[in-house]
Amino acid sequence: MARYSIHLFCDECAQTHSLGLMMNLEDGPVEKDSIGNTYEGKDVPESLRTCIHDNCTICPKTNRIISQVGTPNYYNCFLVPIKE
Ligand SMILES: [Zn+2]
Repeated sequence: MARYSIHLFCDECAQTHSLGLMMNLEDGPVEKDSIGNTYEGKDVPESLRTCIHDNCTICPKTNRIISQVGTPNYYNCFLVPIKE
């Protein structure tokens, strides 16, 4: 089990911004990777889907809301391992 910070990709700065949320996952990536790549050909875990569906973040550069609410593109949602 590893702990991950969840980030969304921002078109404005071509970087990812943290949702400020953390999640424990059994089968997450070793290095930062998108949810789309991590769960290619598999079901995205319900807890992760809910997390992406219910949360958004704000780009610190443009103050625009970044979200994947609605029909999420999981290739724009990232799992960042937290080294402890
Ligand atoms: Zn941004």
